[in-house]
Amino acid sequence: MGAIHLLDDALITKIAAGEVIERPAAAVKELLENSLDAGATDIRIEVWEAGRRKIKITDNGCGMSYDDAMLCCKRHATSKIKSEEDLNAILSFGFRGEALASVAEISHLKITTKTNDSIHGTHLEIEGGKQIKAAPCGCPDGTTIEIGNLFFNVPARKKFLKSDAVELNHIIAAVTKYALSNYGCAFALIHDGRVILRTAKTDKPIDAIAAVYGNDVAQSMLKVQYTSGGVVVAGFIGRPTLTRADAADQSLYVNGRAITNRFISEAISEGYGTLLFTNRHPVFVINITVPPNLVDVNVHPKKSYVRFRHDFLIKQIVRHAVRSTLQENNLVAHGSVEKETSQRPIHQYSFTPERQSTLALMESSANYGTHFELQMPAGELSDAPDALPAKKLGPFYVLGQFNKTYIVAESPHGMVIFDQHAVEERVNYEKFLEQKMHKAIKKQGLITAKVLSVNPLQYATALKFQKYLDTLGFAIEDFGENSIKISGVPQIFGRLRDEIFFDLLNSLAQLTGDVVTLEIESRIIRFSCRASVKAGQELTKPQMNTLLDNLLLTKNPYTCPHGRPTMILFSVADMEKKFKRVV
Ligand code: ADP
Ligand code: MG
Repeated sequence: MGAIHLLDDALITKIAAGEVIERPAAAVKELLENSLDAGATDIRIEVWEAGRRKIKITDNGCGMSYDDAMLCCKRHATSKIKSEEDLNAILSFGFRGEALASVAEISHLKITTKTNDSIHGTHLEIEGGKQIKAAPCGCPDGTTIEIGNLFFNVPARKKFLKSDAVELNHIIAAVTKYALSNYGCAFALIHDGRVILRTAKTDKPIDAIAAVYGNDVAQSMLKVQYTSGGVVVAGFIGRPTLTRADAADQSLYVNGRAITNRFISEAISEGYGTLLFTNRHPVFVINITVPPNLVDVNVHPKKSYVRFRHDFLIKQIVRHAVRSTLQENNLVAHGSVEKETSQRPIHQYSFTPERQSTLALMESSANYGTHFELQMPAGELSDAPDALPAKKLGPFYVLGQFNKTYIVAESPHGMVIFDQHAVEERVNYEKFLEQKMHKAIKKQGLITAKVLSVNPLQYATALKFQKYLDTLGFAIEDFGENSIKISGVPQIFGRLRDEIFFDLLNSLAQLTGDVVTLEIESRIIRFSCRASVKAGQELTKPQMNTLLDNLLLTKNPYTCPHGRPTMILFSVADMEKKFKRVV
């Protein structure tokens, strides 16, 4: 290690700039905020090579005078606050005055801007923090900012960037968040000349949702408007059937500013209570208006994190807002929120420490209130696939179906109850893996092709992974702006619920490269299996027999691909004990 020395100013500024602007999407976000702060009602965002080569944002906002334009790229140059008191009542997105200064430091920046009361505009060029051109020019009202060669002089940052797909995803996510909440402004996002997202100026927020996520999603949204203790929760939440495998389609705002806050997102999910399946995420666009003195937006330089002064209270209000919206729409019975939310999930299979020998099935639902404890011979019902050869399980003699969900059968070991959905999932899963291993996945054309409206990210992902999806048996075609056409699915599944395609695309969108990881692939296969199963289906005895025969052919008949048990055994000894025939 050499002697301690002070870094020169230029280097310090560059390092700091790289921290404010860590990837192209961060630059897009800052420019968007500036355009919105300038009162724009039309913003066009053009990016080339996911923003690496060029980002160009054109707005019809108030523009800058010559003098302001000369100042705007100086550190701490802001028109938005003057003194410390102003910090308490910030209504604009920006106020630190460091975004443009940072961008100017690490790119080739061009600004063209004009206010509507001046005859000509100003053109300004800055490279690596040095002004190289400043002159009056003719241009329309508003501002155009061009960021070329971002990070040209910060190689460390440049190296840190991910693939174009990932960087573009970040940009799409950023634009989406603003487009959803600033629906009074029209947005267009264009990548390498192709329109990726387009919204029109509107006074109805649901229009923006439809433009971003498609009409199907918009029609499944419920309006939220809830006030309590000075806090207003407003926006839209999806019906409980509209869910995703991850939180990508959740947009949360506090006082109009896009934020991430895991606790608030969780509170929204909790509001749904048992209506949501475990690991499913609702779709929502929610703005929480909180008196400024109750939040601290300034905690994070990127301003995307907020701190609430009364965390617990806000969470409770949000939970109630969701709950009462669902109640108003007759989706849940009226009742106490807290009680409902604490009950999820209803069914809990809990294993004692010696999980092989005892399986306790606890029914926490008040309807039953019973508590079974089933003593089982060691290994019989373990989730270890090889504990007992499947053949030894049968034969099963089907007695009947219960509640359109369970198959009741007799076997040499006792009475066995099967969860027909779990069984079907297991059977489909292994058939699919088998076909995949032999590269012999059969595709089945859909008689009526399905057209799905997807969000821009899902759209880009579908096109990117089109070939890969084809190898899995999914035939997906480009169907114009943010729509895809599904014309074939793996034959094994025959039918698939629509949500599978969203899950599939959202999972693929998470990939940081172009290669599909095993983990993502097995996830896709698992939820395909789940989506292929129809709930509450009446089965004939021959159908039940076929299903159980097929189960016996699987390598792991004891659990579904998600790990839930497929069967529960009640031995004769169990019965005798329950009926107190033996002591
Ligand atoms: P901040 O937004 O925190 O004030 P920025 O560095 O983002 O800091 O911008 C500096 C100043 O430049 C802003 O306060 C604003 O006056 C001006 N400015 C930037 N972009 C625009 C724009 N698109 N239209 C009008 N003025 C702008
Ligand atoms: Mg700003």
